[in-house]
Amino acid sequence: MVALRIAAALALLCLAGPACAQKPEDTEQAGPAPPVVTPAAQPGGPPSDAVVLFGGKELGEWVSVKDKGPAGWAVEDGAMVVKLAAGNIETRRTFGSYQLHLEWREPATITGSGQLRGNSGVFLASTGPGDAGYELQILDPKDNPTYVNGQAASIYKQAPPLVNAGRPPGQWQVYDVVWTAPTFTPDGALKTPAKVTVLHNGVLVQNDFVLAGPTRFIGKPVYAAHGPSPIKLQAHAGGGPVSFRNIWVRPLD
Ligand code: MG
Repeated sequence: MVALRIAAALALLCLAGPACAQKPEDTEQAGPAPPVVTPAAQPGGPPSDAVVLFGGKELGEWVSVKDKGPAGWAVEDGAMVVKLAAGNIETRRTFGSYQLHLEWREPATITGSGQLRGNSGVFLASTGPGDAGYELQILDPKDNPTYVNGQAASIYKQAPPLVNAGRPPGQWQVYDVVWTAPTFTPDGALKTPAKVTVLHNGVLVQNDFVLAGPTRFIGKPVYAAHGPSPIKLQAHAGGGPVSFRNIWVRPLD
């Protein structure tokens, strides 16, 4: 009974004033201060801590997937353009989790339909030769019916985009990507799956989507352990060629 009276008296004191009030600074964090990053002068440009993967002049950050030699794509008017014969290209550097900005364009005079109409793709992590990896699809998104988890801005064969925010052929389009790389235990089992958020032309199209594994053309995806990986661009037959410009990445590990 006495204890109850004391508790009630203390509660009254707290309500009445500063005796046991919390201070605003109790919930303030003094540090460490976040690193300073200078944003680009122009929207979409690389911030000061970005790795520029293509700035409009040369392909020095890219290699051929086939033989790791020079990337054989063309550079025309500040853009790099797919050369089918040269095949897929990938970054020299490897990445874990990152923020990626990439601009792409379907040719103004495009041919074909469905998957053969301006097909390319961004493999968010290349896990091997050819098309091995996790593909964010590039395809003509306008008036081009195909399976929805294979249209532009899909995570190929896993997730259609939330909306179709595509532009017509001949116009530049933007992907802004936040990629969370999968992690694996020392014995190779999956620890945490890959996740991806994608904005297409500034519109959210993939919202923290959890991937079931790397892209598979036939069958269900299955994870296999891998470490930091290149980012790969696809040379795909049909309706191209696709162009790229202003590609930069901010590693997040
Ligand atoms: Mg593709």
